[in-house]
Amino acid sequence: MVGDMISFLETVRDRPVWRPVPASIKKRLRSSLPQEGLAPEIVYDEFRELILPYGYGNIHPRFWAWVNGTGTVFTVLAELLAATMNPNCYGSDSSPFYVEQQVLSWMKEFLGFAQDSSGLLLSGASIANFVAIAAALESRADGDIGKDGLWSLKRPMILYSSEETHYSVDKAVRMLGLGTSSMRKIPVDADFSIDLDRLVGAIQSDRRQGLKPFCIVGNAGTVRTGAFDNLQELATLCKQEGLWFHVDGAFGALVAASPALAKRTSGMERADSVGFDLHKWMFMPIGVGCVFVRDRRVHRRAFEAEASYLARTESGIGSVRDPFGNYGPELTRGFRALKVWMGLKEHGAKKYVQIIEQNVSQAAYLRRLVEAAPDLDLLAPVPLNIVCFRLVARGFTDDELNEINRRLLLALQDHGLAAPSLVSVNDRVGLRVAITNHRTRQSDLDFLVDVTRECGKRIVSGSS
Ligand SMILES: *Cc1c(COP(=O)(O)O)cnc(C)c1O
Repeated sequence: MVGDMISFLETVRDRPVWRPVPASIKKRLRSSLPQEGLAPEIVYDEFRELILPYGYGNIHPRFWAWVNGTGTVFTVLAELLAATMNPNCYGSDSSPFYVEQQVLSWMKEFLGFAQDSSGLLLSGASIANFVAIAAALESRADGDIGKDGLWSLKRPMILYSSEETHYSVDKAVRMLGLGTSSMRKIPVDADFSIDLDRLVGAIQSDRRQGLKPFCIVGNAGTVRTGAFDNLQELATLCKQEGLWFHVDGAFGALVAASPALAKRTSGMERADSVGFDLHKWMFMPIGVGCVFVRDRRVHRRAFEAEASYLARTESGIGSVRDPFGNYGPELTRGFRALKVWMGLKEHGAKKYVQIIEQNVSQAAYLRRLVEAAPDLDLLAPVPLNIVCFRLVARGFTDDELNEINRRLLLALQDHGLAAPSLVSVNDRVGLRVAITNHRTRQSDLDFLVDVTRECGKRIVSGSS
């Protein structure tokens, strides 16, 4: 199995990026519960036939849809080792516990975040945002919400972020019982960063109405275009207004480690909390994200609960004083840290920075190709690793061009040529290329532009 998987990765470039799952396979994946066991060889054969050929596409060098990561060979093997040990990483006197602590400390160093902050690994940035906003709520509530819930609040609490903010923040606000009407989605400037004047105006207006502003979520790399909010200004505003400052840096936070790009995240080091992913731009197998919270006590207060069966002991397995289980919703936690530990050791931090910088230069390269092509238009600035563009042709309305671009995107995906995702910027539909892919080469971007223009020509001539 290990040999097959290594060969599968070696030949990833030779296969289509993606292919639809045939109806016959879907049918076989709806079989009834197996009552009797099969020989492992038979089960493995089924895996190779039914599952392996029909993946999501993200390990391919020309996959740039949404924001995903690719995974590396050595971290695949790390998953095998982690599953072999199969520890519960709630927090016990076991090496997996200390490995997670070490990984957290390394990542604080990588991002330049306070070493004495608390943190933990989670399934992804969505849950990282949830944990951070739970801590923000705990910190700023004027009642005992741990005991009496939101009923204890004297005034409704309000969270601010830009319109471009990831929907996981909406989900977090809902899960915390605040509801999305407690969220102010502030319009953005032409560069898709939060409009600071309107943010200040919204905070003042809410205060006048007797509401309680409690948190600003700043973006380090928005999901649609890779835009950065002015994190220095947001940090200062939070300080002045007494608000919690959280940064969603799912992928963008990582550029803090690059001397060439770090200016964009300037101010993030002043945040009360940061959420980011390791399975996107750190190329770890899905799913691993991370949260840091500056005030360890507040973080712990938001998730602490009493349970006699988890009481700590002076020696033995349960002798770790401050388990990770006190800092998030999970009790039984997988050994996510091992792949991060092994990946960082295998490559060194510098290699990750180099690949991040490479992806950013590749996005700039693609932007130049788009600018040079008479039939392609850029839809948004390219501040980082995301390029949004569309095909244009004379004699078509915007609505017709939207339909043409939608068909173009589907043609690229359906034929397995390349996988951008669909984007709409100022009501213009186009292709979005988010490069968090260590396998992408410059020639892949040349290829993308060539096939986009060829397919586009065919669709346009069919439409006219
Ligand atoms: C991907 C992403 C998230 C959510 O992270 P998951 O790992 O998918 O849970 C949050 N914010 C931004 C900006 C993202 O790109």
